Amino acid sequence: MTNFTQDQLTQLKAAMQKRYTQLQEEIRSELLHSENGFDVNLADDIHNIPDDIDTALIDRQIIEMRELDVSLKQFMELEFGDCIDCDEEIGFDRLMAHPSAQRCITCQSQYEKAFPHESNPSL
Ligand SMILES: [Zn+2]
Repeated sequence: MTNFTQDQLTQLKAAMQKRYTQLQEEIRSELLHSENGFDVNLADDIHNIPDDIDTALIDRQIIEMRELDVSLKQFMELEFGDCIDCDEEIGFDRLMAHPSAQRCITCQSQYEKAFPHESNPSL
């Protein structure tokens, strides 16, 4: 794991949780206005949202929320902050800007070149 200071860890955790809550609210409000009959209260837990739900509008949010879920788990297990491709540090600034980032900026741009249509890179 990257050697973040305690202060950086606190900030990163807050950034992840804030983003997670924000996505949760976006997903809830989209589901409230959709007609798929899904119980929005279940959307509090990302694992309750079925893959086949009609989520054209919230696909991106669900993917990001799942990535954040992974990041938060890694955070708890102290395996957080390293690029999944090259094991280098993702970097504090990048993680603050993109709390769900799983790759360093170099690997991310290579990945996006290799898989331009892949919208779910980390799962
Ligand atoms: Zn990398």
